[in-house]
Amino acid sequence: MSSPRKKAVFKAIAASPVQPSSIEEKSGEACAAFGRNVFGLSVMRKRLPKDVYDKLAKTIRDGERLNPEIADVVANTMKDWAIERGATHYTHWFHPMTGLTAEKHDAFLSPTADGQVISEFSGKMLISGEPDASSFPSGGIRSTFEARGYTAWDPSVPAFIIDASYGATLHIPTYFYSYSGEALDRKIPLMRSISALSRQALRILRIFGNKSATYVRANVGPEQEYFLVDKNLAVLRPDLLLVGRTLIGAFSSKGQEMEDHYFGAIPSRVMSFMQDVERELVALGIPAKTRHNEVAPGQFEIAPVYEEANIACDHNMLTMNMMRHMAAKHGFMCLLHEKPFAGVNGSGKHNNWSISDSDGVNLLNPGSTPQDNAQFLVFLAAVLRGVHKHSVVLRLGTVGAGNDHRLGANEAPPAIISVYLGEQLSEVLESITSGKSAKNKKSPFMEVGVSTLPPLPVDMSDRNRTSPFAFTGNKFEFRAVGSSQSIAPVNIALNAAVACALDDIATELEAAISAGAKLNEALQELLPRLFKEHLPIVFNGNGYAPSWAKEAARRKLPNYANSVTALEHYSDPEVMNVFLRHGVLSEREMLARQDILLDSYCKTVCIEGHLLADMLRSMILPNCLEAQARAADVVVKTRAVLGEKNAGSEEEYFNLLRTHIVALQKETAKLESAVEKTLATEGVLEQAKSARDAILPVMSECRVHADILERLVEDNLWPLPKYSELLWLH
Ligand code: ADP
Ligand code: MG
Repeated sequence: MSSPRKKAVFKAIAASPVQPSSIEEKSGEACAAFGRNVFGLSVMRKRLPKDVYDKLAKTIRDGERLNPEIADVVANTMKDWAIERGATHYTHWFHPMTGLTAEKHDAFLSPTADGQVISEFSGKMLISGEPDASSFPSGGIRSTFEARGYTAWDPSVPAFIIDASYGATLHIPTYFYSYSGEALDRKIPLMRSISALSRQALRILRIFGNKSATYVRANVGPEQEYFLVDKNLAVLRPDLLLVGRTLIGAFSSKGQEMEDHYFGAIPSRVMSFMQDVERELVALGIPAKTRHNEVAPGQFEIAPVYEEANIACDHNMLTMNMMRHMAAKHGFMCLLHEKPFAGVNGSGKHNNWSISDSDGVNLLNPGSTPQDNAQFLVFLAAVLRGVHKHSVVLRLGTVGAGNDHRLGANEAPPAIISVYLGEQLSEVLESITSGKSAKNKKSPFMEVGVSTLPPLPVDMSDRNRTSPFAFTGNKFEFRAVGSSQSIAPVNIALNAAVACALDDIATELEAAISAGAKLNEALQELLPRLFKEHLPIVFNGNGYAPSWAKEAARRKLPNYANSVTALEHYSDPEVMNVFLRHGVLSEREMLARQDILLDSYCKTVCIEGHLLADMLRSMILPNCLEAQARAADVVVKTRAVLGEKNAGSEEEYFNLLRTHIVALQKETAKLESAVEKTLATEGVLEQAKSARDAILPVMSECRVHADILERLVEDNLWPLPKYSELLWLH
């Protein structure tokens, strides 16, 4: 019983909670600590000269570039604040197309001519940087001869200090773009999509007579799911170390069947991890709010209070970084992969999205007056139109080799994009399109001038976990995002698609009104027509049912079941137009993104295939052959005792073992040649197709035999921690 695996199991059982660094025991202390490590507006107001502060605040509010005249003062103040808080270095922090964040640290300290050092941080160093970034994916935008990539301060997200026990670093959130000015990151298009949404939504507000709103913002609250695995066990699995998911592993006899994990008592080691993560997040001004056990054993969730989309996006990346980092301190590995374990639920990220105006009014909140009511219906129609006409764009916001294991796997929404509105709101829409009153109507129709719009039901927050895009009372919850993914792509897609729909609607209403129609008449004409056109995107039924795929096909809703199929459509003119129309992405930027995403898919699958073959050759097969040799020995010994013909059941075991070993050897060789063939394929699309069609099916076939062998081979000989150990030891 002294195999490395058994030792790791004993260590995992013996592990006790690590004390969080310091616990803000009273809620009041946690509140006081909020934003402690952030160079936010209140710090700026305190430390900057008033005229500089006013200029900077305006820059932030209006989303403008920083005035270079004040940059030196801002930089100096920021540096002093950071040094007081123990920072020795600063970094421009950006979001390259790797899907992760990137940073390169520079010391504040700078040598002088007389052999001394001073601390230095100029306005120029704050505003722009030029990371030696030729190794980030650019999809061909940046050829090596013009390999420069630039970072530029994004003042809309405050700078912050990451305060690790080994030193503190000032992080400056930045955009990342090429020499030719093209976006090499996900923040630039996100900001462009937010301003497109704002411009178009303002047109609608003006039509409704709103003169006070100056901008419209998208708000996002991402609910983040993840797994924790004991680190002693995880390090024995090269698959968890390298690709964050188990490539083989027989089901645990007990998984999530008893439904005893969801919302269950949080194990104390996990609780201590959560406390530590939340403490750091609070210091970074991230409003971590909710934590609980998720459906699968070993699975948990953290959710912040919603924020403006660009800030929420940065904060979600920081949250993921912090969880990975803090897990190590607590003796865990944090798995953010969409499908770390077969047979139990994978992890997603629910992207709660709403839009509000500069007066703080949520435009997706049904109103109490006829006027608000009508305005809500216009925004609702725009969302339905955006999602219906441009559902491929949304699907593209969720692509990734990891998420393919989850979407449509009866635990996550299908790859078909539809909208859940709930019975009551759907009835309202049907009554508008048919002109008849709603069935469940409790009060009479509400008069909106000459039109009759039904009153909206009070509670519309029905739940349907099978829908990718559900209306939950005053926001939409997009549930197809993968747990490891940045939320930027899906919000870029949502904002761009809805901006297009708002543009269409505003153009029609403005034309009708300038032709002399009253607003109510124009609405009366427009809304029934729009709802009728877009009702096919509404689906309140069970998204997991096979009949839905058929029904969706009848409704002509696209069903791109995997990332490669979806990505092929990135370059369709109607998809590109959604981004081109309001300048969210240029054609060159889109083609680069298509290329990068296909390449990343292909590399992920190739790495997994290669790794699985290695694990089978060097870890699984040798142990299986040892088991086979022992089984052969038992057959020989049994025959010796009982006679030549009397070892039937021993032979049966030997034969079963051998059958699967032979099959596994054969499949491993197939896997090796599938990887080779894929790597040798020309063209990124063809390569991605080869990864999907040649590698993934053979990996599944390998897994079938490996998982059977896991149950056949004597437990002591199995080198990899098993699901029962990974999922249940916390
Ligand atoms: P659940 O979906 O688990 O019931 P909630 O509905 O309370 O939980 O909230 C889930 C997430 O949605 C949280 O991050 C929350 O801040 C966010 N959220 C709540 N209201 C809005 C809104 N108007 N716009 C965007 N996100 C919101
Ligand atoms: Mg939710």
